[in-house]
Amino acid sequence: MDYLREVEGKRVHDHVSNKVAMSPSRCIWVHGPVIVGAGPSGLATAACLKQKGVPSLILERANCIASLWKLKTYDRLHLHLPKHFCELPFMPFPSSFPTYPTKQQFVAYLDAYTSHFGLEPVFNNTVVSAEFDPRCGFWRIKTLGLKQEESEYVCQWLIVATGENADEVVPDIEGMNQFEGPIFHTSSYKTGELFCGKKVLVVGCGNSGMEVSLDLFNYNASPSIVVRDSVHVLPHEMFGRSTFGLSMWLLKWFPVRLVDQFLLLVSRFMLGDTSQYGLRRPKLGPIQLKNATGKTPVLDMGTLAKIRSGHIKVFPGIQRMMHDHVEFVDGRKENFDAIILATGYKSNVPSWLKSNEMFSEKDGVPHKSFPNGWKGGNGIYAAGFTKRGLLGASIDARTIAQDIEPRWKAEATSFMAFAPASLQQSYMS
Ligand SMILES: Cc1cc2nc3c(=O)[nH]c(=O)nc-3n(C[C@H](O)[C@H](O)[C@H](O)COP(=O)(O)OP(=O)(O)OC[C@H]3O[C@@H](n4cnc5c(N)ncnc54)[C@H](O)[C@@H]3O)c2cc1C
Repeated sequence: MDYLREVEGKRVHDHVSNKVAMSPSRCIWVHGPVIVGAGPSGLATAACLKQKGVPSLILERANCIASLWKLKTYDRLHLHLPKHFCELPFMPFPSSFPTYPTKQQFVAYLDAYTSHFGLEPVFNNTVVSAEFDPRCGFWRIKTLGLKQEESEYVCQWLIVATGENADEVVPDIEGMNQFEGPIFHTSSYKTGELFCGKKVLVVGCGNSGMEVSLDLFNYNASPSIVVRDSVHVLPHEMFGRSTFGLSMWLLKWFPVRLVDQFLLLVSRFMLGDTSQYGLRRPKLGPIQLKNATGKTPVLDMGTLAKIRSGHIKVFPGIQRMMHDHVEFVDGRKENFDAIILATGYKSNVPSWLKSNEMFSEKDGVPHKSFPNGWKGGNGIYAAGFTKRGLLGASIDARTIAQDIEPRWKAEATSFMAFAPASLQQSYMS
């Protein structure tokens, strides 16, 4: 038996048949792709599909779009890359925005993008499992709502857009539970205001760790940073152009190795020998390393000058934490009032995508790297797993929409040929 009903203000098509079992409280047939995640990748994909006349349904665990940007980033954040590398398909940033929009401006742009394309994600709906059912040839996606209410969405195409930064990485450090002060992840850090006059240890020296240390210094805290591994620090801009933009331009003409040598030479000239301050450079150049491992170079926003002047101290790896101090692997001990973990994020796909061959169980990203990781078997797609930030998200969105459009239209045509008129109208709405 097939019938239609309204669910959360949307016209959806419930499919009840012998093929699809009805264990959870509601089972909802979606006549288009289901997109998991309402971050920039999910929104861009839904917009590209809509431009091609393909409806989709976005499921989002948070109560808003772009939850990473709205809920988990610090106040002083700006886009690290110039705006034209970060805009989503079909809608440029307003010309009044600066080259590096603030987090608040970026969020306003995403809000405008969502309403411009009339996107209406289903919020507070966490996908807890998704599995392809070979018996019926559909994806079965189970979600939990705020009150743990279960739903099951059934669809032909599943677009994974949960991001490379879905869950916080929290390291297990000896003595962590003995430390008396607060320990928290950068996802909960907003400003250094609360830390005025405090000694704060920032664990991790990626872009977030370096910028949070600078923010703490600006609020008159005494920050120290743990630099365990080697790291490439590059100036944010070179010769008045963004280092990222300049690198992209040079790569059109020169091989990666040569561009890396150029970047390192200019960085040495502008920043000096960073290893003198405890920031050893990796053996591979910055772009080669990014291509090989996905590790992004740090774009210096002024932190290095504070390290050089001794206002931000650098420590090597942590040996253990004690009740009011931290011991480092070089034997030094130092007292701290608080510890901020700038230890990054990871994908959460392995926790909910069942029996999948597309994503690695280990790190939750597609086995195939960019530009080949966007499509798997049985109608599954990945948007935003390119290790190329917002630029990669836009490329994926366009490619996925282009791939789904003819399939969806073929399905729609055969459906129209056989379905009664009442169902035809709802299918196209
Ligand atoms: C501090 C910081 C600064 C950054 N700056 C830049 C920059 O300047 N330029 C750039 O290009 N990139 C930047 N990035 C990378 C940035 O994460 C991405 O560019 C962008 O947010 C990726 O979008 P996304 O939609 O793929 O993932 P996300 O923004 O992470 O969105 C994924 C969404 O999926 C939802 N979700 C996750 N799991 C589930 C589930 N099981 N069920 C339902 N929903 C779920 C999440 O709640 C989230 O809303 C930055 C990242 C960070 C952390």
